[in-house]
Amino acid sequence: MGFLRLFRCPSFPWAWRSARLQLTQIRAQHPPRWKHSGPGSYKAVIFDMGGVLIPAPSEVAAVWEAQHRIPSGTIIKALVTGGRKGPWMRFMRGEMTVEEFLQEFGTQCSEMIKSPVPVGSFFSRLTSTQFAKQFSVMTEAINRIRAEGLKTAVLSNNFYLPNGESFLPLDRKQFDVVVESCLEGVCKPDPRIFKICLQRLQVEPAESIFLDDLEHNLKAAAQLGIHIIKVNDAENALKKLETFLGFPLRKIIPNTCSVRKTMEIPRDSLEKYLKSLLGSQAAVSGPLEVLQFSHGQSNPTYSIRMSNHHLVLRKKPPGKLLTSAHAVEREFRIINALSDAGVPVPKVLDLCEDSSIIGTPFYLMEYCPGQIYKEASLPGMEPSQRKAIYTAMNQVLCQLHSVDIKAAGLEDYGKHGDYIQRQVQTWTKQYRATETSTIPAMERLIEWLPQHLPKEQRTTVVHGDFRLDNLIFNPEKPEVLAILDWELSTLGDPLSDVAYNCLAHYLPSDFPITRGLSDLDATQLGIPTAEEYFKMYCCQMEIPAAENWNFYMAFSFFRVAAILQGVYKRSLKGQSSSATAEQSGKLAEFTSSLAWDFAVKEGFRIFKGMPNTRPSTRSYCLWAHRRLPLISNGTRSWATFSKASQAAASKGVLIISPEALSEPVRDLYHRLERFIETHVYPIEQELRNHQMSEARWTPPLQIEELKEKAKSEGLWNLFLPIETDPEKKYGAGLTNLEYAHLCELMGKSLYAPEIFNCSAPDTGNMELLVRYGTHEQKTRWLLPLLEGKIRSCFAMTEPQVASSDATNIESSIREENGVYIISGHKWWISGILDPRCQLCVFMGKTDPHAPRHQQQSVLLVPMDTPGIKVLRPLSVYGLEDPPGGHGEVLFENVQVPKDHMVLGPGRGFEIAQGRLGPGRIHHCMRLIGYSERTLALMKERVKSRVAFGKPLAEQGTILADIAKSRADIDQARLLVLKAAHLMDVAGNKAAALDVAMIKMVAPAMALRVIDRAIQAFGAAGLNSDTPLAQFFSWARALRLADGPDEVHRTTVAKMELKR
Ligand SMILES: Cc1cc2nc3c(=O)[nH]c(=O)nc-3n(C[C@H](O)[C@H](O)[C@H](O)COP(=O)(O)OP(=O)(O)OC[C@H]3O[C@@H](n4cnc5c(N)ncnc54)[C@H](O)[C@@H]3O)c2cc1C
Repeated sequence: MGFLRLFRCPSFPWAWRSARLQLTQIRAQHPPRWKHSGPGSYKAVIFDMGGVLIPAPSEVAAVWEAQHRIPSGTIIKALVTGGRKGPWMRFMRGEMTVEEFLQEFGTQCSEMIKSPVPVGSFFSRLTSTQFAKQFSVMTEAINRIRAEGLKTAVLSNNFYLPNGESFLPLDRKQFDVVVESCLEGVCKPDPRIFKICLQRLQVEPAESIFLDDLEHNLKAAAQLGIHIIKVNDAENALKKLETFLGFPLRKIIPNTCSVRKTMEIPRDSLEKYLKSLLGSQAAVSGPLEVLQFSHGQSNPTYSIRMSNHHLVLRKKPPGKLLTSAHAVEREFRIINALSDAGVPVPKVLDLCEDSSIIGTPFYLMEYCPGQIYKEASLPGMEPSQRKAIYTAMNQVLCQLHSVDIKAAGLEDYGKHGDYIQRQVQTWTKQYRATETSTIPAMERLIEWLPQHLPKEQRTTVVHGDFRLDNLIFNPEKPEVLAILDWELSTLGDPLSDVAYNCLAHYLPSDFPITRGLSDLDATQLGIPTAEEYFKMYCCQMEIPAAENWNFYMAFSFFRVAAILQGVYKRSLKGQSSSATAEQSGKLAEFTSSLAWDFAVKEGFRIFKGMPNTRPSTRSYCLWAHRRLPLISNGTRSWATFSKASQAAASKGVLIISPEALSEPVRDLYHRLERFIETHVYPIEQELRNHQMSEARWTPPLQIEELKEKAKSEGLWNLFLPIETDPEKKYGAGLTNLEYAHLCELMGKSLYAPEIFNCSAPDTGNMELLVRYGTHEQKTRWLLPLLEGKIRSCFAMTEPQVASSDATNIESSIREENGVYIISGHKWWISGILDPRCQLCVFMGKTDPHAPRHQQQSVLLVPMDTPGIKVLRPLSVYGLEDPPGGHGEVLFENVQVPKDHMVLGPGRGFEIAQGRLGPGRIHHCMRLIGYSERTLALMKERVKSRVAFGKPLAEQGTILADIAKSRADIDQARLLVLKAAHLMDVAGNKAAALDVAMIKMVAPAMALRVIDRAIQAFGAAGLNSDTPLAQFFSWARALRLADGPDEVHRTTVAKMELKR
């Protein structure tokens, strides 16, 4: 089934179930799977006639009644009236002639409806050769049963015809025994007639199986010990019979099922049409057999058998359609043209645009027998076979893309050029039309894809849905016999087909729609990796290896995500159960995050390709968003748009203004801003007072209340970057760059970060647990931290050693009797005094003799473990920063179980580096916030304060200070944003230099800005009536905390010298 087709099907959940069903059906084709007695235990199969081998009298009656305006059900009611003694049963026991029966039966019917009933006409219909035709599936089944050496019988409640012969429109030669009630004088359910049958078959009851459509007949047979099958429809009854017998009975056309009620096509006119199309050969043939392919939901597809012709009919769906959709005419055209060009496609016979035949236009092609491989992992094959299948698939794709469009007459089959651009627009529009809630990855992709469109696109025929299970293979060898499903074909960029063909490589093997390969070892299976597959393609096509194939993968998954979102939206309208609806919604998010992963990889590739090792030509892009300029009314009204940067648009976007953030993130930004202004600023003074009161070591209630409020407004855990948490299991799924803008906002108030669960040291510890924690560690610590129920601290610095060099850390962690024992002296441990602090992330030495960077390890230490002694709170300029504080602590023989180790012994340095990088940039983001708030306070103050006859704002030195502060802040912010951007596109490691640079720049910058403001405030600036004094002390501390300036300067200088 075509991937897209499956998604696009109006009832996706049905399709999903059906896809599963198909798998089951396919499996069922391969014996041995049969559960019952198995071959050998049955010797005969006994068939009832009406309702089993030929249509039931009730079915014939229903049609006849409708035509003759007789109340529905009259005939059947009359037939059963009188039971054993009624005219019908007597007639079937041969006790009445046809005339006698019709007389009595006619009277009975007429009395029933108080009007004459022409029962003669019904009788003629019942016995006409037009209606009384044996089902071909039953004929096939009987032949198979006999071929397997079993006997067959027909056991019929039957009657005589006017010519004196019994009514038996069957080939008697198919049966070893024929038992007819009118000849025997006994009718089913009378057990005697079953016994007669068994006797003639010479089998025991348990050795036989009886098929009937009537319950009471089956009951009687079962009482004798005969195995029974209730027949509701021939297909299903045969499936059951297969399970009894242990061998297949139907000539199986894979992936077909009987035609669904809503998909019926008028058989008479189709038959007529086929006869005229196929000529006299079909005119003398047997009945028309129509089955429906379970795929092809969008354009219903049928298997048609007539005489020795086996065809496939593909039609438009009924009802009102979009003009461009379901264009079977286009399919017919492309298949025809490609066939002439030598591409393996089914042979098309005719396009019928006359809707009067079956209700819609359709086309016919020859049925192409062969093997369709449903699973990308090709189960049950040898690695070499799998490789050969993938190679053949690749070759046929190359063949398709090599077709000379002009020679094939396909020049006008689609637009030329800009295919990907048009596709991105189309799918963006589709996605927007079905959007239900914000999917951050989709927002990012909608921004990113148009910026990274491939510069060069070839134009060839593209299939649009090219995947393994749209190919029919030769069962004997790795050869593609036909490519199916051309509905989405057009002219376009061929690499889109190659990328789409590789989707399964990145989907897990339990992906509900199509089983993927991502958790399997493709190489071991013999399957080329996606990268190898791309290379194989490029090599065969003799084109340069597509460097930007990650872009094509991102685009393909984006398209799939947009389709899935559409499915989700439809399912929300009540077309499926809520569980299924929820699932398809999750799949849209899942596939969009896969798409974004590729976008990130592509960003990294571009970044690596930049000439950034030569400072004079550094060209990563520092430009604002296209939607600019949009001037906000806040303090950040400096949004600019560099035209020059447009030229470099394909190299990544550095968003320098919150107004240029994607819509949902911008919305988040504004909600956060409102929250801080409305709820946080007004209580700041109260909170400062609390910090100086006796109750200062108790967390203030207002903060706890605001935390709940923030949580309920979705302003929670915004810090975890998307690459650490790609499935957004824990956080908001923002990029570092997006978070930089939000974090700056939070930095405007010292109390805000905690309210949104975005404060240090918890953020660093949470990120550490997400990245490196085991499942158990996450459950015990990460979840309560994410919920804001507990707090934590990070214990590294020691009074005895210069801790700016982490390798100096001396605290010991030794293993004894299956536990770790910690001894050490730490200080400046932020947050340890908080009564909510339950976890200490501890760094110490496990092996002093190991290489320098492998001596340290990290342990998760519950704060209630005996042996932890907080000696005193330390203060910064006399401020203790309660309730968390910064504690001096002794760890005396503190015992922790071994599973409290993170990653393993000797990995501490690596963990600390991973933790401190993001922690540092967050500090810097907040420092920009301090500075902005400070400058705003300063401006307000100098406008209203008058000295020496004029407002301070008019004093030259004040003006100069304001100008310097504005320039300082903007410079530092650009560096911070650039570092965050690099973390996004190139990863934390590649951004290390920039992080070191901002850690060196931001605290010093903030100190200057705050110092100028304090000066402008006069003595008031030193007091706790404004946040300035606290800002100052924190900015000062941050020239030391998380590494002193000197260390970062050394890092930057060393890297600079290496350039
Ligand atoms: C408010 C605050 C909160 C803190 N919170 C925590 C916490 O939660 N957990 C934790 O473990 N630690 C914490 N710290 C400690 C902080 O990380 C350390 O103070 C810092 O790493 C420096 O270590 P140190 O104090 O031992 O200074 P030292 O290592 O003794 O360095 C002293 C000075 O030496 C100079 N120096 C050092 N290296 C170089 C160099 N390469 N080149 C030139 N000069 C150099 C610098 O001037 C430096 O300031 C906090 C500190 C403060 C102020």
